[in-house]
Amino acid sequence: MIRTSPGKAPAIFLLFGLKTVLRDLPGRAATCQRCRQLVQHRLQERATKFTLFFIPVFTASRAFNITCSNCGQHSMVKARLKNALLR
Ligand SMILES: [Zn+2]
Repeated sequence: MIRTSPGKAPAIFLLFGLKTVLRDLPGRAATCQRCRQLVQHRLQERATKFTLFFIPVFTASRAFNITCSNCGQHSMVKARLKNALLR
């Protein structure tokens, strides 16, 4: 039980923040939109997680980056298209 003096709210200490986690996923050969070459593409997941006392609680946002290994063309991929790449 938390004892407080009358008329005062108990002091609560919360430590929260956001943390970005990068994770490499298996890529796939695809035709690049820029260099028009059929080359391996690198797929990377970028998840922003809400943390409470440095412990990840839930994922606030998620994006997928795809990079061409030939020319370095970098683009964002939606989750639905990311699943098509992994097939
Ligand atoms: Zn390319």
